[in-house]
Amino acid sequence: MISARSMMAAAVVVVLAATVYAAAKAGPKAISDDVVKKVTAAAPDKAAVQPAQPRRVIIFTMTKGFRHGSIPLAAKAVEILGSKTGAYEAVQTDDPSRLAPDRLKEFDAVVMDQCTGVPFDDPALKASLLEFVRGGKGIVGIHAATDAFYDAWPEYGEMMGGFFKGHPFRRISVKLDDPTSPLNAAFGGQGFEISDEIYTFKEPYSRDTLRVLLSIDWENANLSKGNRTDNDYALSWIREYGKGRVFYCAFGHDDAIWWNPAVLRHYLDGLQYALGDLKADATPSAKISPPLEPARGPKLAAPAPKPAKAAPTATNSAATPANPAAATSGSTATH
Ligand SMILES: [Zn+2]
Repeated sequence: MISARSMMAAAVVVVLAATVYAAAKAGPKAISDDVVKKVTAAAPDKAAVQPAQPRRVIIFTMTKGFRHGSIPLAAKAVEILGSKTGAYEAVQTDDPSRLAPDRLKEFDAVVMDQCTGVPFDDPALKASLLEFVRGGKGIVGIHAATDAFYDAWPEYGEMMGGFFKGHPFRRISVKLDDPTSPLNAAFGGQGFEISDEIYTFKEPYSRDTLRVLLSIDWENANLSKGNRTDNDYALSWIREYGKGRVFYCAFGHDDAIWWNPAVLRHYLDGLQYALGDLKADATPSAKISPPLEPARGPKLAAPAPKPAKAAPTATNSAATPANPAAATSGSTATH
């Protein structure tokens, strides 16, 4: 005979098992303690400004296209930037229904964490996100946040400031296009060298609408041919959108970006700008007169030339395997 008590115990076990399963399925990938320590140590101790009121950020991690391995780490880093400094509290979700108006209203900013493809196509959710920002809130895009929606939602690209074009570069020299912006305080008025999968952008990217903060110092980067005729390769920018604010930064493909102290500071300042706490002039770059004098990046040596392609022989075939990174560089196979 089955007692009521044992039935109750069985029911509890079923509920617990279902909860554990759901958490394992939907929860963020665990980040090792060592990595959490490294990110926490590299994050700023203090935010640039105290938040005007307690702030809440929602990090959206859903993908329908290429899924970056750094998505959970980027989300964790955004969480740590807020919790360590008190700038905001962050939650993660891969559930688009969290972007519905009645659920979004409890947040001050949305972070699009490399959400490739068309993660959602519901007109109500699209309108919700646009209205959220136009109405005075903020949105932050990380790396592949620009590799999303395309024809499915042109207004998204307009709001974010551009769509992904390719990633032809890795090691670059970066200039500060706006050395006096509070969002560039991390770099101490100096350009810098960095390695990551470096994105380039196509329309609607334009300096007529965006205040570019960082871009490739083309003259000093010593790179081979890019994929834009104007060689204008912006990497980070802000814009006003309606009454709201947008911050986008292309860095974040490589895990190591997320324990780079300067990049973390840049992201925190960008988040505080999007939240409305850190004030910054967002006049589009092309409309500033006279134009700002950039802080140039370091002069880089040209990369070593690739070995000439020769027919594999018994002695060199092992040394010249196909290079998958080179083979896909600039293509849409990996983002
Ligand atoms: Zn990438």
